[in-house]
Amino acid sequence: MKKFILALIFLIISCATTGPGGKKSLILIPTDSEVQIGKEVAADVEKSEKVLNNTTVQNYVNKVGQKIAKVCDRKNLKYKFKVLDNDEINAFACPGGFIYIYSGLLKVFDNEAQLSAVLAHEVGHVVARHSIKRLQAMYGYVIVMEVALGPKMGKTARQMVDAAAGLIMQGYGRENEYEADNLGVLYSKKAGYNPKGMIQVFQKFKAMEGKPPNAFEQLLASHPPAKDRIANANRQINKVGGTDLPYYEDEYEVIKGQLQ
Ligand SMILES: [Zn+2]
Repeated sequence: MKKFILALIFLIISCATTGPGGKKSLILIPTDSEVQIGKEVAADVEKSEKVLNNTTVQNYVNKVGQKIAKVCDRKNLKYKFKVLDNDEINAFACPGGFIYIYSGLLKVFDNEAQLSAVLAHEVGHVVARHSIKRLQAMYGYVIVMEVALGPKMGKTARQMVDAAAGLIMQGYGRENEYEADNLGVLYSKKAGYNPKGMIQVFQKFKAMEGKPPNAFEQLLASHPPAKDRIANANRQINKVGGTDLPYYEDEYEVIKGQLQ
């Protein structure tokens, strides 16, 4: 019995990984299982959404994303960045590092630093394991593991995958959004971009807030108001620096020309 309890304690301790900033949190779903779930959710996303049919744009977005992945705090994942052909203003991260951005959001940006800021925010959600934690909280460990361990997926597990993308798209609530914003500012700067790109994005969001009805309201429903995110991101920029770094406007202009 004693041996069993010791084994259990060991299991729990070994699962308590250190998150960004040394924050301890209890993670029950192992990384390889998280990747399996991410693959299922991503497959579902690509069934219901159209992946943008433009290799130049896809390669460019992936290139910027990989720069962020290289400097983030969870490097043992193979991050994938894809553009969805959709005019809504949205971006989201599935478990395991599968990140999607809508072409509608790409059209809003005017430099690469802004794109890097949004991708880095999404990478921040993956690093802090927000989506897997959310799925685990909503469906329980057993069902989430059932999905990960497939291939005979039960009905409940299937429903979880179907619902997951929608849930993930809604955002994760204030605290997690601020955490992703802070990581986003840090990673964007570390990847060589001016972190004020994040502020510029929020300013665009702020200008849009007063113009209903649009899909944007949906994206922002669980995100804090833009003016609060600006204040928070400015505090983080003061800490991490990098305001003399470039924005890369010319590179982005070329890509924007590919989007009609
Ligand atoms: Zn977010």
